[in-house]
Amino acid sequence: MMLKMGKWAVAIWVMLICNQPVFAQEFRALAQVNIAESEIKLSAHKAQVSLNISQSVPFRISALDMPPRLVVDFNEVDFTGVARTDIFPQADTNDGLRFGAFDRGWSRLILELGTPMTLNSADMRVLEDSAGAIIDIQLSASNAEDFANWASESQAKLRGIPKELPRFAPKPRQNGERPLVVVIDAGHGGIDSGAEREGVRESSLVLTFAKELQSLLQEEGGMEVHLTRDRDIFVPLQARVSFARKMNADVFLSIHADALEKGRATGTSIYTLSDEASDAASHQLAQSQDRGDLLAGVDLTGQDDKISELLMEMVRRETTPRTDMLAAAMLDGIRTSLGSMHRRPHLKAGFSVLRAADIPSVLIELGFMSSSNDLAQMLDPGWRDQISFGILLALQSWKADDAEAATLIRK
Ligand SMILES: [Zn+2]
Repeated sequence: MMLKMGKWAVAIWVMLICNQPVFAQEFRALAQVNIAESEIKLSAHKAQVSLNISQSVPFRISALDMPPRLVVDFNEVDFTGVARTDIFPQADTNDGLRFGAFDRGWSRLILELGTPMTLNSADMRVLEDSAGAIIDIQLSASNAEDFANWASESQAKLRGIPKELPRFAPKPRQNGERPLVVVIDAGHGGIDSGAEREGVRESSLVLTFAKELQSLLQEEGGMEVHLTRDRDIFVPLQARVSFARKMNADVFLSIHADALEKGRATGTSIYTLSDEASDAASHQLAQSQDRGDLLAGVDLTGQDDKISELLMEMVRRETTPRTDMLAAAMLDGIRTSLGSMHRRPHLKAGFSVLRAADIPSVLIELGFMSSSNDLAQMLDPGWRDQISFGILLALQSWKADDAEAATLIRK
């Protein structure tokens, strides 16, 4: 007996190990069931499934006939430890409820309805005060013919859905213990020289700075730093984002020094992604960077796939507060080291290069080449050392704050 159990333990262990690389390549949102707030009610006239889960997950509804059953597939709900009577008080007298892992990445709930029913509503409400959500499904009695039609149509549709979702694996969040992986993106390059003033090209100015910053972050900060370009070549915006994902970046910093006549811009400023620009100047800036490079968005955008959009949205929801924290840390760090900044130092616009859904990304305008004062500063190695030091401070404090925020979320 002991031997047998030992074998099983080994078999299960091997399965887990073998499965790991597969899991790592998929986005697996595993929601827990809040038993106290979940309930399934069934009568001869209607049925209600109300599930309170720890995070929103994609789900789909179908029906099976003979006998009439409601089928809900989730991507994915963890039913481990949930007893039928926990969420279905009638389970004592009615054993027509099943739930659990179903297919790779999917879990399934099946409820025997006892009578043909029709779907009145199905929706998922995201809870304001937590990351949780409520899935609510309502059905009422119908007739056998309608139910048979619903069952065959919904099963046909299910067969049309690819079993595996597009592969999109958000990087595990940094925990404050290992070296931070930073990707520095020197803006423009090659045929795209960016702004040009007094014989200085933005593309070469920001490349010089990117290399200096890389040395400092590596040598003083012990960070792992990669550059999207280390010489004067053209790199499409999309390729810069893909590179950051390939390098498993914790943080993405895009470095610019654009020219902006509007509003007589001067001073260092930090930009984060938003579909709505803070002001006309920010909008113009984002647009000018997209010029000649209209490829936008991460791998999944542009695909006509509602599920991927939902996944991307869910990922972005976790990343946005981390990005805001990064921008705030940059403001603090740079202000500390330089003493002054742009009059409105944190701005937002639709920069394509900041679109990685799972990597906190900011764009730093070191200054504006259109300001002769800014240009003189940016050409001064001493000034560049100062701002580099501010960025180092910012990354160090963000690393700790971000790791702490992650443990709070897990609690
Ligand atoms: Zn630029």
